[in-house]
Amino acid sequence: MNPYEAVVGIEMHLELSTQTKIFCGCSTRFGAEPNSQTCPVCLGLPGTLPVLNRKALEYGIKVALALHGSITPRIKFDRKNYFYPDLPKNYQISQYDLPLCTGGFVTIETEEGKRKINIRRVHLEEDTGKLVHLEEEAASLLDFNRSGIPLLEIVSEPDLRSPEEAHAYVTALKAILEYLEVSNCNMEEGSLRCDTNVSVRQSGSQELGVKVEIKNLNSFRAVKLSLQYEITRQIDALEKGEKVFQETRLWDAAKNVTLPMRSKEYAHDYRYFPEPDLVPFILSEKEIQEVRKSLPELPEERIERFKRDYSLSSYDAGVLTSEKALSAYYEASVRLLNKPKLIANWIMGPVLEQVKDPRDIDRFSVSPERLVELLEALERGEITQLAAKKVLDVMVKTRESPQVIIQREHLAQIQDVGALDRLIREAIEENPKTVSDYHRGKESAMMYLIGQVMKKTKGSANPEKVNQRLKEKLEETKK
Ligand SMILES: [Zn+2]
Repeated sequence: MNPYEAVVGIEMHLELSTQTKIFCGCSTRFGAEPNSQTCPVCLGLPGTLPVLNRKALEYGIKVALALHGSITPRIKFDRKNYFYPDLPKNYQISQYDLPLCTGGFVTIETEEGKRKINIRRVHLEEDTGKLVHLEEEAASLLDFNRSGIPLLEIVSEPDLRSPEEAHAYVTALKAILEYLEVSNCNMEEGSLRCDTNVSVRQSGSQELGVKVEIKNLNSFRAVKLSLQYEITRQIDALEKGEKVFQETRLWDAAKNVTLPMRSKEYAHDYRYFPEPDLVPFILSEKEIQEVRKSLPELPEERIERFKRDYSLSSYDAGVLTSEKALSAYYEASVRLLNKPKLIANWIMGPVLEQVKDPRDIDRFSVSPERLVELLEALERGEITQLAAKKVLDVMVKTRESPQVIIQREHLAQIQDVGALDRLIREAIEENPKTVSDYHRGKESAMMYLIGQVMKKTKGSANPEKVNQRLKEKLEETKK
């Protein structure tokens, strides 16, 4: 047994994809000219008053319900006080003791089966501005377009026990958020950001070790790698009898290490107090029920439905539902051709090889209609499996229909037995040594000859048929 155990918790910050900011009417669009989407409210000018964006609250409730959390009937906002250049008010409007939601869980798949990771709380707050550090000059620029974009903070309990579990958790949580369509969850644009906290302790101990927070994690890969690094670093320190300090560390993705950033601040450092400019909000049961009714089918439910309706394995159903767009592509294809397993294999194999990132399936040049046309040609025996893959390669590049490609590239399966026999005879005549190897019982000789025939047919012959005819012809050469 491993003498040490890691204890990991994750905070996820999610920018909600509302049209306007959380306390003012400014646009939230990404990529606009710096400071072009600002007003006195989100610039924090004195005398302005915030007004809560109803949509942000609704999105927050959606997430809370999807995570099986309990909604706080009376919520309020608080000021979190700290000084930083990207925060002109010197406080961030957040939620302290009455967050939008407490409790809830996310189910993850582990090697030992399903596990529930508990959620501590979900709360709403405003995003800060963005500091852009210039490399050439000793200066930083400020962009307040981000200031006031609604953020949802989702805090897990320290229930995760390994970097792999942490990765499974963020992946499962992100899938839920994408299905809810409350955020574009784009990590490169910063719409989804994660911080982790991690400590190690003797296995079996109930006490928690000293906690280190890791920031600057801009991908799920970074979540996993930084935890691997940090857990090893902390175990090494304990083994050497050194102290682990409570601190915040930054992940350096170029060097694959965590580096000290600052000592950890505590809640009392922020001097939270109720936001006097916003009244508490009462969330009625009726209102919550309305939002509940609008919840879409979530990844877990979809996995179960795919297993049930399409007789897919847990693994296949998991892959196909990992991205909402991918599951839509799959279902659109199955509606056109009722061969769920064949389509699953093709999407998880050749299609994903082409698409690389399943999120890009929406932009894939082969539509479900075209994919099904191809698979129908395969099912009719018009083309072989090998030829079908070639046709798909061309379809991706040229966007042509499979029929056009099959005809132009002469990929239709050889139906003419005479033509096939002629190519088989050629292969036999050209390879006398392999033929005698075959008669001496060398098994690889047969595979080689099949390969030669397939080459001559440019992959358009049915390998089983080639195998069968070739055997017959080889028997003839024996006499
Ligand atoms: Zn504004």
